[in-house]
Amino acid sequence: MKVLVVNAGSSSIKYQVVDMTDESVLAVGLVDRVGIPGTTLDHSPMGKDKVTIKKDLPDHTAGMELVLQVLVNEEYGCIKSMDEIGAVGHRVVHGGEAFAASVVIDDEVKRVIKDCFEIAPLHNPPNMMGIEACQRLMPNVKHVAVFDTAFHQTMGPANFMYALPYDVYEKYRVRRYGFHGTSHFYVAHRAAEMLGKPYEECKIITLHLGNGASMAAIKDGKVIDTSMGFTPLEGLVMGTRSGDIDPAIVFFLMDKLGMNSSEANNYFNKKSGMLGLSGVSNDLRDILEAAGSGNERAKIALDVYYNKVKGYIGNYIAKLNGVDCLVFTAGVGENAIDIRENVCSNLDYLGIKMDVEKNKVRGKEVDVATADSKVRIFLIPTNEELVIARDTFGLAK
Ligand code: ADP
Repeated sequence: MKVLVVNAGSSSIKYQVVDMTDESVLAVGLVDRVGIPGTTLDHSPMGKDKVTIKKDLPDHTAGMELVLQVLVNEEYGCIKSMDEIGAVGHRVVHGGEAFAASVVIDDEVKRVIKDCFEIAPLHNPPNMMGIEACQRLMPNVKHVAVFDTAFHQTMGPANFMYALPYDVYEKYRVRRYGFHGTSHFYVAHRAAEMLGKPYEECKIITLHLGNGASMAAIKDGKVIDTSMGFTPLEGLVMGTRSGDIDPAIVFFLMDKLGMNSSEANNYFNKKSGMLGLSGVSNDLRDILEAAGSGNERAKIALDVYYNKVKGYIGNYIAKLNGVDCLVFTAGVGENAIDIRENVCSNLDYLGIKMDVEKNKVRGKEVDVATADSKVRIFLIPTNEELVIARDTFGLAK
């Protein structure tokens, strides 16, 4: 069976076709600027040249229609007919408390995903557009939802409750959920294999450091804590998100800058983080370069970033009562040698010692700890699409 993996955002659709006989990827692609003038589709069939198609598309159904045409195209397609696609796996950001695992999508599942629009207004509506477009175009195959929040549902109230009046949890579902779960799940399982220990017996700290960034503490096969909360805004310093701040700053700046709540939401999500602090860019490559050329604000931004990650490492080691390994993943974690080195520096008291020579590597599965480090330091490229394809295949068989 071949599985189509779909990740629909507000103006983009990412896709992959995976052959489940050997889990090989047959094609990957991205439709960008859906519903905005200047739509482009980039399609990369394995072993063939990348194709770019420019064609304005009004909505996600039109976007998916073009994807399906491209998949079966004689010249640059990767399958002969749509009959080869046995199931579709959809990334869905928020499953609330309803889903601790992936599910086959039926009317009830769609109702619950829609019920989460209120708590995930930026993510769940476009995810749903992707689901409905695909169901319209492929009514005879199973569609599976794989949730970013599901892996973190093992967290207990000690870590998921905020110290707010209890009824906001009951009435409005205000609690910590965590995101990037599919990525944390994948790298944690790979880490257990690299440790050579049963997954259920490991203590693991995963660091998903991309433009969005989060960490998770995993004990005995269960997430016990993660750094993102009610929304992806909580936790680490990110490309454009502030991460943890004193919440009183929000009210103070709403008054000072004359922002309403949606402007404030935008301010802390899109204008803050490494971009706001450095004034250089949201991209750590640019900030590292600027710091290297003596830009003081870029240096401060990096120091704040390292400090925050170190703080969570300490926090999680305390909650786990020890740790077997740290796992670096995602754009920054997989590629940024300097960032990994700085995050792991001066942690020898906690048993974390990096081999800085071994650490000079990008995008490979490797242990970069010294031989005598009590804690292993793994670099593991994430593969969320593979988890979605596997779950979809497992549920659709
Ligand atoms: P997301 O999925 O959250 O958009 P990614 O996981 O793709 O993000 O990570 C993208 C980020 O990775 C970029 O914004 C950039 O900051 C960072 N990045 C990629 N390569 C490097 C590198 N060599 N050095 C430093 N940062 C890098």
